[in-house]
Amino acid sequence: MRQKLVAGNWKLNGSLAMTRELIGGILDGMGSSGGVEVAVCPPYVYLPLAHSLLENAAVRLGAQDVCDQDSGAFTGEVSAPMLREVGCHYVIVGHSERRNLYGESDELVARKFAAARRGGLVPILCVGELLEEREQGVTEQVVARQLDAVLDLEGIGAFGDAVVAYEPVWAIGTGKTATPEQAEAVHAFIRERLRAHDPAVAEGLRILYGGSVKGSNAAELFAQPNIDGGLIGGASLQAEEFLAICRAAG
Ligand code: PEP
Repeated sequence: MRQKLVAGNWKLNGSLAMTRELIGGILDGMGSSGGVEVAVCPPYVYLPLAHSLLENAAVRLGAQDVCDQDSGAFTGEVSAPMLREVGCHYVIVGHSERRNLYGESDELVARKFAAARRGGLVPILCVGELLEEREQGVTEQVVARQLDAVLDLEGIGAFGDAVVAYEPVWAIGTGKTATPEQAEAVHAFIRERLRAHDPAVAEGLRILYGGSVKGSNAAELFAQPNIDGGLIGGASLQAEEFLAICRAAG
């Protein structure tokens, strides 16, 4: 039985005050977690504050990106050991905004995935197709290519302590959500592809859906057999909406 995970990706949003207010609101409204694991991924500079606010709380901390190197002359980068030291458990790698706006290749994403694990973090590997790729009917090829880059570098065993997030790029921040059937079809494809390498790892892997998830559409998405929670962008910036999504996963 896979425990559902709901992770909030704050992207380039926030301030010290907002970090206090949003985390305070989440903690106030959480009550019992209802068996759902919850995580927040603020921008790097707010991680230490978030970590102190989350002390003794049942909400995990994650970062939004990580360097593929552990230390050295890589100006502007932040490494997995650094993220671990400031309290991170998760790190998102290969978000479509990193892939498409900053040109991250499948190979670089795979190296970031490896660096995260080396540094003791659990990577949340984002995969997903562009609108034109869906229209061309190549969604599965795109997702397979993104997964295979990690499989080739790290092997199937690495997915034993990782999370995958299927995020169709056309659904991110657009208000267009994949239907539960569209999402489930790709989630099932991801699990099947990994099952061919190792059935037990594939069965245990949590595959999150991301793309305009809200309190009002979360329950039907999370009811699908291969959807194990959500990676939430815009809706994770409002405590009430984020909590509604967490409740829908419970
Ligand atoms: C995301 O950025 O990972 C995301 C899913 O964004 P949104 O929920 O805003 O579509």
